[in-house]
Amino acid sequence: MKVRLRNPDREVEVAGGRKVHAVLGELGINPDTVLVIRERELLTREDRVADQDLIEIRPVISGGSGDNRMKCRRCREPAVVEVRRHNAAFCRVCFLRHVIEQVRRAIETYDMLRSQDRVVVAVSGGKDSLALWDVLLELGYRVDGLYLGLGIGEYSNRSGEIVRAFARDHGAHLVAVDLEREYGFDVPTAGMKGSRSTCAVCGLSKRYVFNKAARDHGYDVIATGHNLDDEAATLLGNTLRWQTDYIARQFPVLPAEEGFARKVKPLYRLSELETAAYAFLRGIDYVVEECPLVAGNTQLRYKEAMNQLEATSPGTKAQFLLSYLDRAAPLFASQDVTTLTECERCAQPTTGRFCAFCRAQAQILGERLGEPRVEDNEIAERDLVAESSGEVMPAEIYAAGPTP
Ligand code: AMP
Ligand code: ZN
Repeated sequence: MKVRLRNPDREVEVAGGRKVHAVLGELGINPDTVLVIRERELLTREDRVADQDLIEIRPVISGGSGDNRMKCRRCREPAVVEVRRHNAAFCRVCFLRHVIEQVRRAIETYDMLRSQDRVVVAVSGGKDSLALWDVLLELGYRVDGLYLGLGIGEYSNRSGEIVRAFARDHGAHLVAVDLEREYGFDVPTAGMKGSRSTCAVCGLSKRYVFNKAARDHGYDVIATGHNLDDEAATLLGNTLRWQTDYIARQFPVLPAEEGFARKVKPLYRLSELETAAYAFLRGIDYVVEECPLVAGNTQLRYKEAMNQLEATSPGTKAQFLLSYLDRAAPLFASQDVTTLTECERCAQPTTGRFCAFCRAQAQILGERLGEPRVEDNEIAERDLVAESSGEVMPAEIYAAGPTP
């Protein structure tokens, strides 16, 4: 159904077959401030509209055009983005500045990047990691990109193209690794052949390749595009299961340790909506569609749950994560105890004889890694997925369907 909006004039397409108040709700319009017009008749909020209708929504508040629009908190110009948890709205220029400030603050708070560091940002082609690359370049860091081709059909092809185009347009260097070419399997195959879920083996591969590529190419720091929503959802999942060891390692910065580059998440103070708005306003072309393999994963349900809380109490998400970082994280630090040795096959750090990635790879390719030793069997599966990672996402969080 076409909807004509006035002051300023524009036309939007929304679904019909419902009541006027539902349409107004979707458009964020207060019914008391507009006339709703179809042909020559006025509609009330209880009237139904159909898909083939053309309706006009005409503001009734006099006193100048755009009067009821939000104003930028900083400069009072018309706002284009609302950030409800800060009870604020921003115009384009001030919003971009707000995002850059949040990233700068994140970097400073946790001493994420130092001037002599060689930094690489893992870029998936999605809004978060491309926005991050853009902000870091804007802030003057010399930062390269790292793209891992996962072999997920058209989705991966398009992601790769987008990342390459960004690098080209910004004169930035991109390291591209192809999972299939380099390690002999792609993610869909891994999901079918191995014992891990598709998302678990994908996550394991990313963490492994990011770390290995950083070491091979001499980077000190790997930055990822994890945002506030990602981090809050992960923390919720880990807390619901009281996985104290994962909770202990969920932090915006993980210092380098033997065999691991430093890992940083400079977007942890920004919501998904903010990174998307930043990417859009900066004209960054990013992959809007989600990975076709993740449908219905548990992480997504935690995000939805957090969003429901956020809808009625804006700020809940940020409160949950930021208060954890300030007050609760230190209490979990003692839970993070692992002793690492070198993987006998690839020399990456591991808690066992062979690292989780090499074991997964051997299983997928039907190879043998050598005689198993008793200790190897004693390592629980969830530790295998967590190791080599410094990352916090438990395997179960990726599993589709209800979790025990
Ligand atoms: P995800 O695990 O898909 O939520 O992604 C989290 C972060 O990992 C992203 O913000 C990126 O920084 C990075 N990432 C994900 N997929 C890729 C990829 N295929 N290549 C490089 N980096 C990636
Ligand atoms: Zn290995």
